[in-house]
Amino acid sequence: MHVDSLKKELKERKYRMTPQREQVLKVFIETNSEHLGAEEVYRYLLSKRINVSKATVYRTVDLLVELGFLRKLQFDEGVYRYELVDKDNKHSHFICNSCGKIYELKDELSPDKILKDYTDLLRAQGFEVNEFDVKFRGMCPKCSKKTRKDK
Ligand SMILES: [Zn+2]
Ligand SMILES: [Zn+2]
Repeated sequence: MHVDSLKKELKERKYRMTPQREQVLKVFIETNSEHLGAEEVYRYLLSKRINVSKATVYRTVDLLVELGFLRKLQFDEGVYRYELVDKDNKHSHFICNSCGKIYELKDELSPDKILKDYTDLLRAQGFEVNEFDVKFRGMCPKCSKKTRKDK
């Protein structure tokens, strides 16, 4: 997703693209939608000599979630991370307990597909399911290889 299409979308939805919103969105585009916390977004902007207050960044990321541009993720208690919402790129996450790296799982066999039956089941019971979030935790291939070597 590019800034231009984001701008267009914002305009269509009649929200003004303020410089702050654009700057924050740009951070996610420039970092290739890494899973950034508000603090990291703030520090990235500082490193680019963009003058913005921490409070503004925290407010802006949550606003962008409300507007549907960012998705709020929680991998660790008390820490929120954000990523760009890309409808063509739905994915689940694998969090390595050893190195802390967050992997995006984009395989054909995505949990979304597998869980579709389950979601249908819930719907049949009258639950209105809007979204679900699958997280895997464990050790990534790199770390498990390392542990095996160390033994
Ligand atoms: Zn790892
Ligand atoms: Zn992700």
